[in-house]
Amino acid sequence: MAIQFYNTLTRRLEPFEPLEAGTVRIYTCGPTVYDRAHVGNFRTFTFEDLLRRFLRWKGFDVVQVMNLTDVDDKTIRGSREAGVSLAEYTEPYINAFFEDVDTLRMQRAELYPRATEHIPEMIELVKRLEAAGHTYVSEGAVYYRISSFPGYGKLSGMDIASLRPGARVDVDEYAKEEARDFALWKPYGEGEAGWDSPWGPGRPGWHVECSAMSMKYLGETFDIHAGGVDNIFPHHENEIAQSEGATGKPFARYWLHAEHLIIDGRSMSKSLGNYYTLRDLLAKGYDPLAIRYLLLSTHYRKRLNLTFEVLDAAAAATTRLSDFYRRVSEYDGDGGEDLADEVGEAAASFESSLASDLGIAEALAAIFDLVTEVNRAMDRGALSAAGRGKLLAALDSFDQVLDVFHATPVALDEEIEKLIAEREAARRVKDYARADAVREKLSALGITLEDTPEGVRWKKRAVKAAGENGPDGG
Ligand code: AMP
Ligand code: ZN
Repeated sequence: MAIQFYNTLTRRLEPFEPLEAGTVRIYTCGPTVYDRAHVGNFRTFTFEDLLRRFLRWKGFDVVQVMNLTDVDDKTIRGSREAGVSLAEYTEPYINAFFEDVDTLRMQRAELYPRATEHIPEMIELVKRLEAAGHTYVSEGAVYYRISSFPGYGKLSGMDIASLRPGARVDVDEYAKEEARDFALWKPYGEGEAGWDSPWGPGRPGWHVECSAMSMKYLGETFDIHAGGVDNIFPHHENEIAQSEGATGKPFARYWLHAEHLIIDGRSMSKSLGNYYTLRDLLAKGYDPLAIRYLLLSTHYRKRLNLTFEVLDAAAAATTRLSDFYRRVSEYDGDGGEDLADEVGEAAASFESSLASDLGIAEALAAIFDLVTEVNRAMDRGALSAAGRGKLLAALDSFDQVLDVFHATPVALDEEIEKLIAEREAARRVKDYARADAVREKLSALGITLEDTPEGVRWKKRAVKAAGENGPDGG
């Protein structure tokens, strides 16, 4: 079955074929590790998880690279304010990111390159752009002259003529950006992290990080570049200008962008303050599996509105799926129906739906229809033992892509006590990163901790009833 993706670059659905038969190379813009990622960020990362899992399920080898932006305006500001080195500042957020990745059952990418470990590659790229006549130096910074790249605007549909000529804006923080010529290299500022370069000590601009790291690991032309819609302009537009400006070759062939997770009608973002981290939602009693399901179950090109109702509905859906899986596993009847047609139809629909630009809603609908039919057959004792075996194989196959059929394991009391002791020990030696990591692990297991004068108390997550208040209690 042919795979189709909606390509932001061409603005249409296109049949997907990788450049090299059998292997798909994907670059996904990763987190800026100046703070914990919020669940909006994880909406995009979960879409990317679905993308890689589906491609692997279809038999491709996937090479996914996700960068860690560990140097930019925000990380530098954070480290200065905290009075620690950039590396010391970002390390706990990098660890927190991987904990969240695991809690949400995301498969790890093949590579997570850090920007700070690729400064020479970035300098090389800027030198190439300089040699090709795309840059100019002003006040110690190297800028990309976008009027030198005729393709500028092709991804976002931005009309360069409408961009005020000559203005230069620092585009590291894309939210405040009006965008035109952008910095490839910025001069060293007092107390900041800096590296030597042909243009004096300084640091790379944010956009050049992704161009340099993607081409290093995936080649000058690769298959898929993904991110959230806010990345389209200017970040991805600038990546194209940098990469194609330097190589003269097409950069990424397919551009896939996830719509945002929104809350109260606005995009979840740190700058608006309307955000929840994964840890926040776990502490409110939500199961990580329900959160995974929620992030996964709305088509990636549709906005996802975070409310209590949808969190509760996601929890109900995952309960239904895991109860069903357990019931089928424990079923010991041997009736006269193998339900081969029903299973075959569900599998075909699952595959064709996902092949059509990751049509998750249709894929899930096919599964829920099957659940209803099989439950009826089991009620009557009609499902055959052979049919049950084939059904389980189909569910396992769906679960390779979705990872939603198995409930979050409930920890045993002794495990919990052991983790609590581990956290206490970490706190005694002031290893707060470790202590936080253990708290998060407990949280993912459904355990919330309360520090009381008598010591630490813990309680198991209460099951949320539908109709309770929303995440912000309102
Ligand atoms: P950042 O750490 O800001 O670089 O963002 C990491 C990823 O999250 C990027 O791919 C963004 O496009 C994406 N992102 C940021 N905000 C949201 C949101 N509200 N919903 C979905 N994705 C988002
Ligand atoms: Zn990027």
